[in-house]
Amino acid sequence: MNFDLDRLVRDNIRELTPYSSARDEFKGEAKIFLDANENSLGSPLVKWYNRYPDPRQAELKKAISKVKGLAPEHIFLGNGSDECIDLLYRCFCTPGKDNVIVCPPTYGMYEVSGHINDVEVRKAMLQPDFQLHVAQVEQLVDENTKIIWICSPNNPTGNSFNREDIETILNNFNGLVVIDEAYVNFSRHKSFLQELKDYPQLVVLQTFSKAWGLAALRLGMAFASPDIISILDKVKPPYNINKATQDLVKEALNDIDQVNDMIKDLVDMRNALFSVLEKHPLVEKVYPSDANFLLVKMKGARKIYEYLLTRGIVVRDRSNIQLCDDCLRITIGTEDEITLMMRALKEYVKKP
Ligand SMILES: *Cc1c(COP(=O)(O)O)cnc(C)c1O
Repeated sequence: MNFDLDRLVRDNIRELTPYSSARDEFKGEAKIFLDANENSLGSPLVKWYNRYPDPRQAELKKAISKVKGLAPEHIFLGNGSDECIDLLYRCFCTPGKDNVIVCPPTYGMYEVSGHINDVEVRKAMLQPDFQLHVAQVEQLVDENTKIIWICSPNNPTGNSFNREDIETILNNFNGLVVIDEAYVNFSRHKSFLQELKDYPQLVVLQTFSKAWGLAALRLGMAFASPDIISILDKVKPPYNINKATQDLVKEALNDIDQVNDMIKDLVDMRNALFSVLEKHPLVEKVYPSDANFLLVKMKGARKIYEYLLTRGIVVRDRSNIQLCDDCLRITIGTEDEITLMMRALKEYVKKP
């Protein structure tokens, strides 16, 4: 397999002279900053919010690098994974010409972002057991296929894909393979981060929105070769990660023990809820999950969804999605929240 990154990049991006921000152009020590038209007098908030944040997020990347065991040159930070997804399209897919492959049912952003960027989105449906249909993926690939999107553990099905299947794709496709590991912390399976050194076309996405409990701060990570990272850096808005996010996430990274405790609690609750739901009279099937949610097939899912809403409980209705008919996706909440949801289901059964 010959991988040629230069061939994959869009022509306009290869030739792009990136915007050079004030904070980019000046690198060094200074005491007086009159270069960025900020308000030097201050702000109604903490003093330093009057200054633009570090466009390279150097300190935050250093802290993430320590936790992940990967050099900062392998790390790109986005305003949520969603920005990473959009940037991958904008850097590598020429609108109206190139295409990508998604494997539904999966995370909806890959397709929406493709449509926003006017890029053809080809679909290789998962098999009924929610595993990848590798032969079909390979059939859909042509010379204009730039990205294969793989979400593992997958949303909304909850399962991880067979590692050999992902490796087969990595070994045979010379476009980018993006593995979205938003839920990897809840899984027994190994991340693909350690595989970056073997596959130059691999991009791994992770996020602070799930296991880290920081969805509001909007911080997503893309891990890849330094060459791929520099292309994303060239195209990103200069100040895409705000200072509050950079500071707060850096602080959160010191509390990895608390995060690991939460992960353990959520996984224990997920497994307990799995057993309870499995025996529930309304439930036809609970799908095995490597994530912080369960996909549950129920008789009359839509009706149950609407009943739960009347009780102030909102789950995700996936019942009109191919291969997920009559399925609800239930996030593992606190013990109290899950108890109240189970109580509501009990009342629904008893309803005349
Ligand atoms: C929740 C989720 C994300 C996280 O997106 P952010 O923009 O980082 O909040 C990414 N991928 C998948 C599959 C998800 O379910």
